[in-house]
Amino acid sequence: MSERKLLMIPGPIEFAPEVMEKLGQPTVSHVAPAFMESFGRALELMRKVWLAPSGQPFIVAGSGTLAMDMAGANLIETGDNVLVVSTGYFGERYAELLKRYGANVTFLQSEVGDVVPLETVEAELASGNYKLMTFTHVDTSTSVLVDAKAMGALAQKYNVLSILDGVCSVAGEEIRQEEWGIDVVVTASQKAVGVPPGLALLVASEKAMSAWRNRKTAVGNYFCDWSLWLPIMQAYEGRNPSYFATPPVNLIQALERSLELILAEGMDARFARHKRLANKFRDEMRSLGMIFIPKSETVQANTLTAPYYPEGVNGGEFLGKVGQNGVVIAGGLLPSHKTQYFRVGHMGIVSEEHIDRTVDAIKKALN
Ligand SMILES: *Cc1c(COP(=O)(O)O)cnc(C)c1O
Repeated sequence: MSERKLLMIPGPIEFAPEVMEKLGQPTVSHVAPAFMESFGRALELMRKVWLAPSGQPFIVAGSGTLAMDMAGANLIETGDNVLVVSTGYFGERYAELLKRYGANVTFLQSEVGDVVPLETVEAELASGNYKLMTFTHVDTSTSVLVDAKAMGALAQKYNVLSILDGVCSVAGEEIRQEEWGIDVVVTASQKAVGVPPGLALLVASEKAMSAWRNRKTAVGNYFCDWSLWLPIMQAYEGRNPSYFATPPVNLIQALERSLELILAEGMDARFARHKRLANKFRDEMRSLGMIFIPKSETVQANTLTAPYYPEGVNGGEFLGKVGQNGVVIAGGLLPSHKTQYFRVGHMGIVSEEHIDRTVDAIKKALN
């Protein structure tokens, strides 16, 4: 068997051996005391990682898109006005998703490689009668980073509920959900949270939970309905048996372990490591003459990088060669620019050594 390649795409990523061990353990009952303890602890630790001490965490089998769906399904009623602030592919996804629940969506799209200016967002919030705003912290198609703190402040100022798509940022980019006043922060296990694909994760503020409680109509999605899931989360947090839909036992045990590792590093140290390694990687790419999709350093994500292919380089061949050199990186995702750029994920347990191996594989491929 050939040696496994280093996985440097924007999710799934490299996972800690201690996390992977949990997946291979004999599966216990979803109501075994030891599992209730793991599930309960995972919920408690999520509040610390999200920096949302009074938030309500949810852990459900699914991917990041399901977490987006759950937030939308529970907060939207037909006819609600929603502002979707988009920096790429995943903003478009959120707009499409919310329309399914009857949302009346206003869509603000940034220029490729840039953010929607805060003044534009503010002018729209001031003019409209919005219930909710969504924005993508790091759009994985462009590697553009949005100023989540400033966006949270705007949502607060205009008393609009906010959902942050943090699928490519939670546990990698700085997010202080409660301090920044963001109502729902969603993610998936396979990105910076550091657990193989399969978990939809979110934390909702008290304001979001009360908006849900005050709905006039039933949630239009059975599997996502917080009426069915909230009692389950509460039961596990109280270490009591309960059942709505079978939880992915081993994945949740792996999540508990990964959250412990994240908190052992410390959130500030973790944000700083992501920043340092992102800068290191981009300095290396710059020294090879590369430029990036984001138009300036201030909107560059720390969890991934999206460089244009250097002049004369065939993207498909280049990605293939990097793969032959032992590192898997990703092609473009934004339809209009797909063949012009590539993407390298650097999040989770990413280390100097991972960056060095990736840079070497890229240099060799270019030669
Ligand atoms: C990956 C990603 C998603 C989708 O997550 P899935 O787990 O693939 O469903 C949504 N938003 C962002 C920003 C992402 O990076």
